[in-house]
Amino acid sequence: MRTVRLTNSFHDTAITLRVPDKRDYLTARQVHRARRELCGRRDCQCGHGPALTRGPDQTLDGTRITLVPDSDGSAWIETC
Ligand SMILES: [Zn+2]
Repeated sequence: MRTVRLTNSFHDTAITLRVPDKRDYLTARQVHRARRELCGRRDCQCGHGPALTRGPDQTLDGTRITLVPDSDGSAWIETC
């Protein structure tokens, strides 16, 4: 099990999500939960990407990542 940590520096919020070793995406449910925890406000322009993250501190086991949205609401985890 690996750990994805997502942050939003505008609201000073963070969430930690568990991802199985062989899965390289967040489920739609996890993305939804992250959006709610990191911002949760309608019409807010704070965040970026599928999970409304902000700032460079998005990581998978400490490695910096970018989330790429998929059409079904899930998000691919890409290391950068
Ligand atoms: Zn916000």
